[in-house]
Amino acid sequence: MEIFKDFSFDAAHHLPNVPEGHKCARLHGHTYRIRIYICGEVGEDSGWVMDFGDIKQIFQPIYQQLDHYYLNEIPGLENPTAENLARWIWQHLKPTLPLLSKIMVKETCTAGCVYSGD
Ligand SMILES: [Zn+2]
Repeated sequence: MEIFKDFSFDAAHHLPNVPEGHKCARLHGHTYRIRIYICGEVGEDSGWVMDFGDIKQIFQPIYQQLDHYYLNEIPGLENPTAENLARWIWQHLKPTLPLLSKIMVKETCTAGCVYSGD
């Protein structure tokens, strides 16, 4: 069974490696939407894979590092594309959330990525 929990945070960034004149080279912000997927067995007694509240608690320290920050200043996010952000969140979340199976990062309503580890 796969379950998910959604989060959202606001942050500023720019993309340093885009071609000259690209609009993403300019400082701007997004309301990022994050979906954390957890894959596991449904507990016989609990009837769930995991408490959604526990996911929120485990994600909290990562959320606090991102919300209302300038992403380019965060170590490992010098080029904060959606793809690199998904990988960064994975690296910081997987150790404390072993059942993590996938991370979706949406920069806008219509643009995002899904990462399920290497
Ligand atoms: Zn952007």
